Amino acid sequence: MSAKYVRTRYAVDYKVGERMTLHDHAACPAPDTGRCAETSHDRHGVLVSFPQQYLGVRFDGEKRTSRCHPTWRISRQAAPKTPGTDDGR
Ligand SMILES: [Zn+2]
Repeated sequence: MSAKYVRTRYAVDYKVGERMTLHDHAACPAPDTGRCAETSHDRHGVLVSFPQQYLGVRFDGEKRTSRCHPTWRISRQAAPKTPGTDDGR
C-alpha cells in the first residue's frame, strides 16, 4: 500500500501537502449522494500520508491524522482567495 497504489486503484492524483475538503454529510440535510452541494459543514485539512489504501488527512485544528477513503466525500480543496489562511468554512 502506497501513494502509488492509492492513485492507481482509485484513479486520483492527490499528493502529500495538498489541501483537501471532506464533506461532512452527518451535518448535512441533503440526500445521501456521496458528494453533494451542501458545503457549509465541510471539513478542510492537509493530506499528510497514505495509510494503507486510504488518505491520511490532518484536519485543521486537529492533532491527529484521520483516514479518509480516497473517493468518498473527499476532494481537493478549491484554491483559497488568500493563500495560507482558512476562514473556517
Ligand atoms: Zn451531504
